[in-house]
Amino acid sequence: MQGETSRGGPAAGVCWDLSDLYAGRDDPALEADLDRALAEARGFAERTRGRIARLDAATLARAVDAYESLQEPLVRAAAYAQLLFAADTSVPSHGALLQRVQERGTEIRNTLLFFELEWVALEPQRAEALLADPALARRRHLLTALRRYRPHVLSEPEERILAETANTGRHAFARLFDELMAGMKFRVTRSGETRELGEEEVLALLYAPERMQRRSGARALSKGLREHARTLAFIFNTLLHDKALDDRLRGYPLPIAARNLANEIDTARVESLLSACVARYPLVARYYRLKARLLGLERLEDYDRYAPIAEHSAARSFDEARHIVLGAYADFSPRMAEIAGRFFDARWIDAELREGKRGGAFCAATLPSLHPYVLLSYTGNLRDVMTVAHELGHGVHQALAARQGLFEQDTPLTTAETASVFGEMLVFRRLMREERDPKVRLALLCGKLEDAFATVFRQVAMTRFEEALHTARRAEGELPIERINALWMDANRPMFGDSVHLSEDYAWWWLYIPHFVHSPFYCYAYAFGELLVLSLLRRYDEEGEAFVPRYLALLEAGGSDTPEALLARMGLDIGDPAFWDGGLAVLEEMVAEAEALAG
Ligand SMILES: [Zn+2]
Repeated sequence: MQGETSRGGPAAGVCWDLSDLYAGRDDPALEADLDRALAEARGFAERTRGRIARLDAATLARAVDAYESLQEPLVRAAAYAQLLFAADTSVPSHGALLQRVQERGTEIRNTLLFFELEWVALEPQRAEALLADPALARRRHLLTALRRYRPHVLSEPEERILAETANTGRHAFARLFDELMAGMKFRVTRSGETRELGEEEVLALLYAPERMQRRSGARALSKGLREHARTLAFIFNTLLHDKALDDRLRGYPLPIAARNLANEIDTARVESLLSACVARYPLVARYYRLKARLLGLERLEDYDRYAPIAEHSAARSFDEARHIVLGAYADFSPRMAEIAGRFFDARWIDAELREGKRGGAFCAATLPSLHPYVLLSYTGNLRDVMTVAHELGHGVHQALAARQGLFEQDTPLTTAETASVFGEMLVFRRLMREERDPKVRLALLCGKLEDAFATVFRQVAMTRFEEALHTARRAEGELPIERINALWMDANRPMFGDSVHLSEDYAWWWLYIPHFVHSPFYCYAYAFGELLVLSLLRRYDEEGEAFVPRYLALLEAGGSDTPEALLARMGLDIGDPAFWDGGLAVLEEMVAEAEALAG
């Protein structure tokens, strides 16, 4: 369709088929969908605006149904534009389509803004009477969840202005960050030859077996970031201030409060998760001391953390990855393997390496009546096999939760990583079961531990950093870079103790983390997800087969109730401060196992 692109890698030819959405980017059905969504939104507004307070339960239920289904054409168009752009960001018409769909989306959403605001404004007594009515039973959680925002929403004109000016404010600065990072070049010199690497490539050097390579990767990363530090720090300072303004206007008491509300979890429970992890920081130092010994080093430098501890095994073909992942899934549940298998058979996966393709990996839900799509760049190493397992976990979760409909198929961030992390653990356990060579077993175990530490402790340290950062900006005004560097080091040092030497270079490494820019306080959700999965696996080990249907029911429930309520059905109490220690204890056992294997 567009110009020649270089294609390849072990998954050459594995690209997705988007024709379930539209025939192509010129398909007239796409424009027609956007027109229809706007026309229906206007019609809905004419019929419903100003009347929510007077609707009876049955009429309100029908209005919510209409509100949901009229958004489906927009969701279809938006999903297509995003997928097309991700598959090849270098085609200008892909970026233009994405921008167009976003702008029309804002218009449609602004037309519909009144609906949620009127519902949220309803007197508590009236709302409770409606919610108690059986006619609204299916929408009870959705409507209750919306009313959490009652103390924090503004008037409709104010909300409209904030939504529109965000396109030239917050969203614009976030896009500037993305474009700056995507275009940033890092110069690495090796045997007299200097190469310019992108961010993904320079970060990949931290996994290199040769120490010199890791060190030059770390140096190049720091140097590149330092060169752009003024602009990046300005973006950070602006966004910190923007969030402080938003929190003040909406009356959020703490920087983390808005995120916790969106995650349907209260601040005390988040704090018990964070402090349980901080209390186990010594486990991190204990592991890195073992790792130093395995690498034959006196002490690790920051760039040694991801060094492989064994020779790289041979690259695995994409077919092997498929076989490993589906096999591990089938051991647990044939139904889960069957759902995951469809992604390969029906071409819902884009896995080949391709110029212009977006970095990283994701699983994107489309419409509940359709299916998700998975994107990754498969190079054949074990981390890529784990990525396939991870994204297909999301895929299975989304497919199972599709019955909840557009509004309730997605979970909050905290439980969004349940099936993905669970899927990775199933693959890890199968590989460990099949591997006899103790050296390879040790390497597998260390790889898993390092992933888990990056998901649990590192994210907790990053959350502590964000708390300090937002608090400092509010108390001290615009922050000099050196001040932010110091906050970053203060948040990271306690985690490593004396086990890893953090160089002056490391002080700059907050500058490239996209979560701080795009979604403040996102990070603790990773720790939540990982520790939750370790607890679920422990249940599986105790209960055996009986666990499987209950786990699948948890996935099927999607976001139809709060994480706390859904997990309570599994017998898990995340309100108990001791809950998190269960998952942390599993990590400690894994460290002990690695120590034993190391001898
Ligand atoms: Zn994920």
